[in-house]
Amino acid sequence: SQACLPFFIYKIPLGGLKMVIVMKPEATEQQLKEVLSKIEELGYRPHVIYGATRNVIGAVGDERGKFVLQSLEVLDGVEAVIPILKPYKLASKEVKKEKTVINVRNVSIGGSDIVIIAGPCAVECEEQIINTALAVKKAGADILRGGAYKPRTSPYTFQGLGEEGLKLLKKAGEIAKMPVVTEVVNPEHVDLICEYVDILQIGTRNAQNFELLKRVGQTNKPVILKRGMSMTIKEWLMSAEYILSEGNMNVILCERGIRTFENATRNTLDLSAVAVLKEETHLPVIVDPSHATGYAKYVSPMAYAAIAAGADGLMIEVHPQPEKAFSDGPQSLNFNAFERMIEKVKLFSNIARTNYP
Ligand code: PEP
Ligand code: MN
Repeated sequence: SQACLPFFIYKIPLGGLKMVIVMKPEATEQQLKEVLSKIEELGYRPHVIYGATRNVIGAVGDERGKFVLQSLEVLDGVEAVIPILKPYKLASKEVKKEKTVINVRNVSIGGSDIVIIAGPCAVECEEQIINTALAVKKAGADILRGGAYKPRTSPYTFQGLGEEGLKLLKKAGEIAKMPVVTEVVNPEHVDLICEYVDILQIGTRNAQNFELLKRVGQTNKPVILKRGMSMTIKEWLMSAEYILSEGNMNVILCERGIRTFENATRNTLDLSAVAVLKEETHLPVIVDPSHATGYAKYVSPMAYAAIAAGADGLMIEVHPQPEKAFSDGPQSLNFNAFERMIEKVKLFSNIARTNYP
């Protein structure tokens, strides 16, 4: 039987991780030592991960012949020897079976409740962000979003307010008593942004910007990692692995639609990714139907579908006057539409959360 592994492996040469040897909770120090020397005899390097209830050993080495390690199962004190087959390690359920729950202030992401992240595409001015914060909070949102550095397709369009936007976002979050999230586009901005926000977001255009991923992996802020618009699920998990392998275990995956031949919507929302990720990873998965569809009228049906598919939460763009938004107006909901959507989301989530634990 495969035990749950109540730990995270950190700073071991994970690329070479081939087997995980799970010790019994009652295993002695002597038994552990014997397993370690046996691993070395077989030509592998052992790395002990000391857990609260049991110790676990990662065996690092050559891919070929790794199954000789299976013979360790007969040693005293060993509970299980588990092969690591996936290219992503820390993100995989092979390494950690229980769901990751991320706590930000008073909000849990990946727990029993659906989490709602809402706010404008971009912070535009004080009045806009504060009014939106209060409105989405009243409607039932948990976390406030707002871009200060916008990765725009055209260099001639609004690029965000920068640090001024961060200040306004933080202020709005304090007034509405909500944690805040913003996108980071440049490794050099990371320290500054961390002073103002609770959660960092990596956008679709930077989902394989490995230097940026490593940099946010070195912070202690949870990271929402959006799916690259042309990324496979496997590539997406490898990007998550970049963050995890730097020691930041708090990654939230956000499906936001992918590029396909279909052009009736801005992107194609790949909801099967939610089901696949539930099999593959312990990380929370949320869905952004705003960027996925590109049109306000399609946002709520896809939000309900996302919840039914098992998503842990939603990210929704909301603006006081979508027709006047500096960016992504056509896909933004006004306060009224958002409030009505959230009422229904609650009904769907009651059913989904009790049926798919
Ligand atoms: C955003 O959240 O405003 C954004 C730019 O999203 P994406 O990276 O998914 O396009
Ligand atoms: Mn946007």
